[in-house]
Amino acid sequence: MTFDEIIRCLPLMDQKIIRDIMSLFDSIDRQTEEFSGQTGLKCKDGCGSCCENPCIETTIAEVLPLAAHLWSKGMAQHKLEEIRLNATNGVCVFYVHDPINQAGGCCSIYAYRPGLCRLFGFSARKNKYGRRELVTCKIITDSQPQACKRARQEFQKETGEVPLLTAHACYVAGIDPCHGHTFLPINLAVSSGIEKIGYSLEKLKQ
Ligand code: SF4
Ligand code: SF4
Repeated sequence: MTFDEIIRCLPLMDQKIIRDIMSLFDSIDRQTEEFSGQTGLKCKDGCGSCCENPCIETTIAEVLPLAAHLWSKGMAQHKLEEIRLNATNGVCVFYVHDPINQAGGCCSIYAYRPGLCRLFGFSARKNKYGRRELVTCKIITDSQPQACKRARQEFQKETGEVPLLTAHACYVAGIDPCHGHTFLPINLAVSSGIEKIGYSLEKLKQ
């Protein structure tokens, strides 16, 4: 089955959630691209260090498009087993180390990655004083001080559109009140998403 065929097999509510989440991802990508253009912030070429963090979390809602993709490619059962056996709380199972460059790597499901993976490095969150502060990594902070300075200046304006992690979390919770609130370790969220789509597909056969 193709991705679109899988989506059409799901309950109408889930179809809408997946479409809304994908449209949210498109808007994040446009916003981060624009912000990157304005400030000059960009990831180091070939870097995947943040994906090695075993504490990355996301919501089940955000991995439903990925889960549908995995079912459409016949990879869902394999990934489910991989996560069950090795990686419930570990490093994301979609991260592929670069065998030549130890500090490098890439995402094997880039088009379907969840919101945090799109926003980290180029977004802001509100601190306890309600001020926007840059959410980025040490690699970017150390290598792009001028770009970080420009980003902070943009945030200080308190106007205009900047990618906001806190706003993203609210959008996801609004799109899917059941599965958009709770943050889980990424592999656990993915396995729950795979099972959720698998359950709907199984019901079709009955
Ligand atoms: S956000 Fe930082 S650690 Fe992550 S890929 Fe970009 S440069 Fe590397
Ligand atoms: S989904 Fe992709 S970008 Fe996100 S943590 Fe996993 S490998 Fe990294």
